[in-house]
Amino acid sequence: MSDCPCGSGDDYDDCCGALHSGRRPAPTAEALMRSRYTGFVVRDAAYLLATWHPRTRPDTLDLDDDVTWRRLEVVRTDAGGPWDDSGLVEFVAHYAEPAGRGVLHETSRFVREEGRWLYVDGVVDA
Ligand SMILES: [Zn+2]
Repeated sequence: MSDCPCGSGDDYDDCCGALHSGRRPAPTAEALMRSRYTGFVVRDAAYLLATWHPRTRPDTLDLDDDVTWRRLEVVRTDAGGPWDDSGLVEFVAHYAEPAGRGVLHETSRFVREEGRWLYVDGVVDA
């Protein structure tokens, strides 16, 4: 039992862990985004691929062992609610790698198909 890496303050098992195990679908685009961030933290490549839209999904996903994801800030959401079919989530993810610390500032696009939220793509702010 531990705090969820997505920073919700909830226990991992009751937060992103419930989505990773398939016990619950993500109710919102933000919830899916948080669970995908946590998927990177716990290196659950299968979950990341399963929540990626088939149109944009890579064949395989190689997670970089040198990158440690440290913290997530959700900056803004646009739509992506339980009654929407699409949504945007802007976030800043902090990481550390051997060369130093960095941030990924991205606005991700999500769609909901057959009741499931899927990651489509994202625009990275340089
Ligand atoms: Zn979480």
